Amino acid sequence: MKTEIISVGTELLLGDILNTNSKYISTKMAELGLPLYRHTTVGDNFERLCKAIITGLQDNDILILTGGLGPTPDDITKEACAKVLDLPLLLNDESYERLKEYFADRNSVENNMKQSVFPEGTIILPNRFGTADGGIIEAEGKIIIILPGPPKEMEPMFEEYVYPYLSKFSVQKFFSRFYRITGMGEWQMYSIIKDLIDTQTNPTVAPYAKKEALVIKLTAAAKDLESAEVLFEPYEKAFKERFKENYLGYDQRPLEERIGEIVIEKDLSISTAESITGGMVASTLINYPGISSVISESYVVYSDDAKKEILGVDKDILEKHSAVSPEVLKEMLYGIRRITKSDICLATTGYAGPNDDKVGLAYYGYLINDELYINGRVFKGLRNEIRQRVTRELLNALLKRLLDKDI
Ligand code: ATP
Ligand code: MG
Repeated sequence: MKTEIISVGTELLLGDILNTNSKYISTKMAELGLPLYRHTTVGDNFERLCKAIITGLQDNDILILTGGLGPTPDDITKEACAKVLDLPLLLNDESYERLKEYFADRNSVENNMKQSVFPEGTIILPNRFGTADGGIIEAEGKIIIILPGPPKEMEPMFEEYVYPYLSKFSVQKFFSRFYRITGMGEWQMYSIIKDLIDTQTNPTVAPYAKKEALVIKLTAAAKDLESAEVLFEPYEKAFKERFKENYLGYDQRPLEERIGEIVIEKDLSISTAESITGGMVASTLINYPGISSVISESYVVYSDDAKKEILGVDKDILEKHSAVSPEVLKEMLYGIRRITKSDICLATTGYAGPNDDKVGLAYYGYLINDELYINGRVFKGLRNEIRQRVTRELLNALLKRLLDKDI
């Protein structure tokens, strides 16, 4: 069953709104294992929409249309479907009853009546969050599904009616899991699993560099989640063995939430001393509600003077090794602990660029009791990307440590 999504709306073509309906439906189709062959977007223009529907029906079995179900003359989706399929447009009683319930006054009912008119034989999909009902038209061996434009109306309608309807055509469902990897670049991650990628069948194995993490996406075709988990298992085992301390599992929740949960539960305190990240580490942690009870202090120590004066970094060490060095990071970590006495101390130092010779070189680490962890490398990217990556690597390392053993 080949599928196409046709998004209707001039606003989409003008760039006024982002086509999130298309993304949402695509994700659902992938989950259902129904192949999607094309995304099409057309403006609110009757002829061009008819043409898109005709071409869509020639090439595909299922068309999913979103938008243009409203009461105004520029809402033309149902009219175009009726024209192409040569079906009369009729007032649907069930939909009309709901419209009358929704609008108490006669005037509004009259003005919105168009929303209860559908091509003959349409299966009505009630709209629980608005007045434009959707529909499924089965005609000429093909299926056209029409859905409202507003995502708040479209998504629940899809979930409640369209998903179960389409499940009938799906032989196998697809299940995906994203495994987080830390402490290395994309290429290194790739080389560690190259053999698994080269020999992939089911599940498929795809490495990604997402903004918040490096991930490996496994996608299994299976009848249910339980069977998919059986297929994931040997890969999970291999990731654990091969990435060791750099493997963070498949929990998709943001880092700060996972860290926050553990730190609050154990009643630990955290402080940061940040140079290259300029407060980003603390700010990321503070995204998590409730963290205020454990974050004690946070310092942005950008200049050498600040490192010396606030943290007490040794002047000779600074001169000998420069501010961006593991030696200075160590001094920063012991310095912040001296001031705050926190259980967990975090620090960063590096060159964010763009005008430094060593742009991207950065060190980050933590001090937990006598356990000192320092790591560093050259990070690629633009200034802010480098800062985000350093933040992410440091928080990844901290999470890994918290998951590994008690403090
Ligand atoms: P209405 O009854 O509100 O007119 P409709 O079914 O006629 O609904 P449209 O008029 O095409 O839908 O779009 C209404 C609103 O829905 C748009 O202004 C936009 O905010 C949102 N919308 C429409 N299409 C999309 C899309 N593809 N992705 C995200 N949002 C969309
Ligand atoms: Mg509209």
